[in-house]
Amino acid sequence: MTTSTEEFDVVVVGGGPAGSTAATLIARQGHRVALLEKERFPRYQIGESLLPATIHGVCRLLGVTDELDQAGFTVKRGGSFRWGSSPDPWNFLFALSPQLSGPTSYAYQVDRMTFDDILLRNAAKHGVDVREESPVLSAVSTDGQVTGVRYTDPAGRQQELSARYVLDASGNSGRLHRAVGGQRHMSDFFKNLAVFGYFEGGKRLPGPDAGNILCAAFDEGWLWYIPLSDTLTSVGAVLTPDQIGRIQADREAALREAIQSCGIVRDLLSEATRVTEGTYGEIRVRKDYSYSHSRFWAPGIALIGDAACFIDPVFSTGVHLATYSGLLAARSVNSVLAGELTEERAFTEFEGRYRREYAVFYEFLSAFYDMQADENSYFWRARKVTNMATTDMEAFTTLVAGAFSGERALVDSEELRSRFTSSSTDLAEAVERTGAAQTESGERMTELFRAPVVSDVMAEMNQIQRRGTEPEISEPPLLADGLVPTADGLRWAEPQPAPDPA
Ligand code: FAD
Repeated sequence: MTTSTEEFDVVVVGGGPAGSTAATLIARQGHRVALLEKERFPRYQIGESLLPATIHGVCRLLGVTDELDQAGFTVKRGGSFRWGSSPDPWNFLFALSPQLSGPTSYAYQVDRMTFDDILLRNAAKHGVDVREESPVLSAVSTDGQVTGVRYTDPAGRQQELSARYVLDASGNSGRLHRAVGGQRHMSDFFKNLAVFGYFEGGKRLPGPDAGNILCAAFDEGWLWYIPLSDTLTSVGAVLTPDQIGRIQADREAALREAIQSCGIVRDLLSEATRVTEGTYGEIRVRKDYSYSHSRFWAPGIALIGDAACFIDPVFSTGVHLATYSGLLAARSVNSVLAGELTEERAFTEFEGRYRREYAVFYEFLSAFYDMQADENSYFWRARKVTNMATTDMEAFTTLVAGAFSGERALVDSEELRSRFTSSSTDLAEAVERTGAAQTESGERMTELFRAPVVSDVMAEMNQIQRRGTEPEISEPPLLADGLVPTADGLRWAEPQPAPDPA
């Protein structure tokens, strides 16, 4: 039985990266925000390899840069891929510089218990009323508009909160997304499943690549190898769906056999032992994780993070999409609550930008996977990405850094600007360094980068580069008839007409 109803401007459901981001950025505009989280933090979550756009874009806006610096996370300067017959992994660097000198050209490999806890406590510091062990049961609606939620408090009593907006950030397992209507469409293309665990004593890649994520292919799929500390490594196998029976029968054997099938990971783990106790002692399985909801918002409610969509983890885009959508939703809520925009106008911008970001990654990854379907293999067998021309590589690195939208909030720093302006030269060196030869697969990669979706990304990169040399230019709308972010990045504004050259 419900015992009381409290009033807030906004209720956020779920305290992962999406929920904490949105709650903090709305509270920073002076609104009353409650965040209801089912678990008590710190709690486990997969998704440990992050992108620079999250660390230097959204996390900077959230004000947690120093805390992240001090948390002791592994510095991730890029990614390493290993496939085909070559024994050496190919590395891409966010910095696009062999010296890795740019101070913001990196991300982190994070223990999600710590990372998510930092973001959630930061929300509380910004005035968000954070309530843990408070699972939301359902949305409350009045005349077709969501007006609040019902939840269970830690004492087991049912409570109700009313709000102008409910943001569903309850992740993959939440059910509140049903309140927006429409449905969750599972991807026809990405149907893989993952089995993962943790190891102590795994070796590291040499030199500056030691903190990279390694994605290594073998016959039945690919493995991730994420160095979480000097000694702890997250290892997961992404396998084709026909292997579900084998995984269900014995998940430990399935992971062990995947590692045995993949030379580079087998060697890296040759002196390691699997963690068998505590939070990291469990071998976990995830499936059905690539989907998108048919609608991202309805009156009074919006979906952010995994509640809205997720896609295959190969380029570590989940936390980026979660924090980026949290930022977009916060701008929309802040603009409507300030009386500056209608809900329709503000949330159309939210959904348009969010879908665009998701769609580009989706198409890009589909094209990657498709390429090897022809060759009865995975994309990583296609060839070293450094076989491409420098401009293609530039687009690639920017895309996988989470910076392709060109949003100032994600890339606007001196370091990032100089990174984009100097990237051509550095890339040329990086490509030369690998001594890559043009091959049939390399040509197919080049074709991929000529696809319309990737040309779009590259056009955006030109925009970013232009901004690097002309920092005073205003941010153009990303969408036709769209809005632009305000100078503080926390609301939307109508774009100003270009000044009359006369
Ligand atoms: P979550 O982090 O899931 O947070 C949702 C929160 O909502 C949880 O704390 C949950 O307890 C809470 N909640 C749920 N239901 C309720 C309720 N009813 N009431 C209140 N609270 C509720 N991403 C990366 O960036 N890098 C990676 O390397 C990566 N690897 C991945 C590997 C695999 C195999 C998979 C499946 C995903 C991976 N991801 C990765 C994706 C990443 O896990 C997610 O995209 C990310 O955690 C989404 O954040 P979120 O805030 O939307 O949701």
